[in-house]
Amino acid sequence: MKYVSTRGSAPELNFEDVMLTGLARDGGLYVPKEWPFFSEKAIIEMASCSYEEIAFTIMKPFIGSTFSDEEFKEIIKKAYRDFGKEERCPLTNIGGKNFLLELYHGPTLAFKDVAMQLIGQMFELSLQRKSQKIVIVGATSGDTGSAAIEAFRGLDSVEVFIMYPDGAVSEVQRRQMTTAVESNVNALAVDGNFDDCQSLLKEMFNDLDFRDKVNLASVNSINWARVMAQVVYYFTSAISLGAPKNKVNFTVPTGNFGDIFAGYVAKKMGLPIEKLIIATNQNDILHRVLESGIYKIEKVKPSISPSMDIQVSSNFERALFDIYGHNSELVCELMHSLKSTKEFELSSVETKMLQDVFESGTSSEKETSATIHSIYRDTGILLCPHSAIGVKVAIEKNKEQDIPMIILATAAAAKFPDAVKSACGVSPKLPDNMSDLFKRAERLTKVPNNVDEIKAIISKGINI
Ligand SMILES: *Cc1c(COP(=O)(O)O)cnc(C)c1O
Repeated sequence: MKYVSTRGSAPELNFEDVMLTGLARDGGLYVPKEWPFFSEKAIIEMASCSYEEIAFTIMKPFIGSTFSDEEFKEIIKKAYRDFGKEERCPLTNIGGKNFLLELYHGPTLAFKDVAMQLIGQMFELSLQRKSQKIVIVGATSGDTGSAAIEAFRGLDSVEVFIMYPDGAVSEVQRRQMTTAVESNVNALAVDGNFDDCQSLLKEMFNDLDFRDKVNLASVNSINWARVMAQVVYYFTSAISLGAPKNKVNFTVPTGNFGDIFAGYVAKKMGLPIEKLIIATNQNDILHRVLESGIYKIEKVKPSISPSMDIQVSSNFERALFDIYGHNSELVCELMHSLKSTKEFELSSVETKMLQDVFESGTSSEKETSATIHSIYRDTGILLCPHSAIGVKVAIEKNKEQDIPMIILATAAAAKFPDAVKSACGVSPKLPDNMSDLFKRAERLTKVPNNVDEIKAIISKGINI
């Protein structure tokens, strides 16, 4: 499988190079040249398979010959062995035809582990083979950082620097990032918001000298391997509700558009998904673009769902590129306009094409809290604020109840205890292996929102 950049001028790469590279050298994102397709018969055959077996089948066409079948099976097995549930990503009914897809049974209690645990294993094998060292720099709204640190801590071939918005992540999220004892892990508290962190990351990648000097890699959702790993649970969950014979809908709490883009890919690969519904918090740029065709960056409003406090949804670029038939000129034009005027406008035809694939809804702070409360009252289930946004929008969109609705539950309630407690009065407990999190010593570096200073810290950290 070959990969092309959404901006059209970076070289075509194979999977291994795409994975190790992250952002394309023309500033674009890599996507596969074509989508693998699974027939109805092939999907039916997956029904009796384990999560790991389905993961192998779905991801194999994307990785090509990067790993042998034996190596890739071993990678998958190791990636998911620390997930607390046998099914890895179990489904729970929450009334009627609404189902929660629990994606938070990995080591850091958020769905980011599903991809990051796999990426950790893939990077390790690949770098060992190449005897290469890399620097992973990540920007996080909270969960990507902790998942990346968990996946890469202690590896000799990798130095990790995670930039997070100082003061804008939950305490559990921060402590998961700042309490790793391994010296290859560095938490950087940036004086800015998540969009600032993400644009610092892109600036570093676009400085090709720096990029080559430190051997920069990224595990943000600009990295294709993240999206690929997330396609798997769309298949496993839909199949367990009777796909491909029965259609399903998905509602996805969205920030950077990575998780829902994986759903779009699953649909392209033959999974009978009827609707893909984007659920946003008060930072509703994606909801607005779907309604009006205008993608306009506003100020980030901090919310109780911090992992979705995002205005620049990087992966949206992948969707635009695909929906408009790999039109990289159009993508370049839109992204150029976004950079210079902080907005772009789609034509009515283009907007309609987006609306044919996606629907959207939004949840206010009040509605999110009310949903945590009502679901707890009715089912005894504690939702994290992000998952609650999904549930709120899903219920609103699934009035007819004719097709099952799968709602992606993206984090455990215990990761956001304050928001959950104030919504429903119950304080969710951390699992036993994390119960000393609040006693562990923290280690972090405060940094200004300035790319040169951060580059200097990284160079110094790896002795270059
Ligand atoms: C990252 C994250 C999201 C948003 O996912 P995207 O792929 O960025 O759309 C939602 N909920 C939680 C808990 C997250 O960590």
